[in-house]
Amino acid sequence: MSASVVPTTYWHRLPDGDVQCDVCPRACKLGEGQRGLCFVRARAQDAVVLTTFGRSSGFCVDPIEKKPLNHFLPGTPVLSFGTAGCNLTCRFCQNWDISKSREIDTLSDAASPEQIARAAQALGCRSVAFTYNDPVVFLEYAVATAAACHAVGLKTVAVTAGYVCEEPRRELFRAMDAANVDLKAFSEDFYRRTCTGSLAAVLDTLRYLHDETDVWVEITTLLIPDANDSDAELHAASRWIAEHLGPDVPWHFTAFHPDYKMLDRPSTPAATLARAHAIATSYGLRYVYTGNVHDPARGGTVCHACGAQVIGRDWYELTAWHLTDDGCCRSCGARCAGVFDGRPGRWGGRRLPVRLADFGAP
Ligand code: SF4
Repeated sequence: MSASVVPTTYWHRLPDGDVQCDVCPRACKLGEGQRGLCFVRARAQDAVVLTTFGRSSGFCVDPIEKKPLNHFLPGTPVLSFGTAGCNLTCRFCQNWDISKSREIDTLSDAASPEQIARAAQALGCRSVAFTYNDPVVFLEYAVATAAACHAVGLKTVAVTAGYVCEEPRRELFRAMDAANVDLKAFSEDFYRRTCTGSLAAVLDTLRYLHDETDVWVEITTLLIPDANDSDAELHAASRWIAEHLGPDVPWHFTAFHPDYKMLDRPSTPAATLARAHAIATSYGLRYVYTGNVHDPARGGTVCHACGAQVIGRDWYELTAWHLTDDGCCRSCGARCAGVFDGRPGRWGGRRLPVRLADFGAP
């Protein structure tokens, strides 16, 4: 076995001799030598293994606002990385070169959990994000890296579609301080046809995170013209979020651009983002944002009690700050939901590619 192949625990044997992976609801049944749909979990020596432990598709220091997280240590740099493979098959994937990779060449950087934590510290990051592809599929590597980060005082962030079974979900999010969950649509039909997944499983993850964990959660929805942007669907999603998650969960509406297998649709018009924003706020949701566009009016954070702007943003840049060090409005004292720790960071909108090899031996 190569060093990047490690045993996993979430699987069981079937009566016909196959084994079934129990990490996500896809429940891949694997004969000897077969890989799951995510490509990175496979059957080997009569068990299910992860084949990408300690291998990464690349590292970058980003603003935390790019994850996107607007209420988690604003303005600070985060070391972002991913591996390869994904457990969904979204036709509009904006990261398909990584998520659909069948090439081990994509995993060009060898990186141990300790080396990642060391690099993040040396680069002045406050957190490490498991992103680019879904940490659900590289669960063991993400959890080990999160432990190494916590050991040196760094926070951890999962960027995920939330398509994961109950037990691995508990293990993954026990290791995370914050998560951005992709709510791809509010229709089972969309999830089935476009992603071969299920909305119910994702809503279950959102409910779990809100009800049973301290993980700071924000939601992202990529709005695709004529696919998931109808008034009816946006009303239904807003109602569900207000009812089950409450008014404090930030929700980001981001703009689609034609990609991967969905080249037949136009980019999302600014008016669609504005309409979605208006619908969501009409349900009392306090922190609704537009993303991937210059829209300072809908990119800033407003105090829910007095209406003063408490954080100004333009794309990923902070342009104004009117919160106390513990996250209260300077005008009226009302608390802004989120994780705040002193003055905001000053990373700005920069994106800094990083070579892990420059930070010592794995
Ligand atoms: S994690 Fe991968 S192998 Fe396991 S069930 Fe999901 S897609 Fe299949």
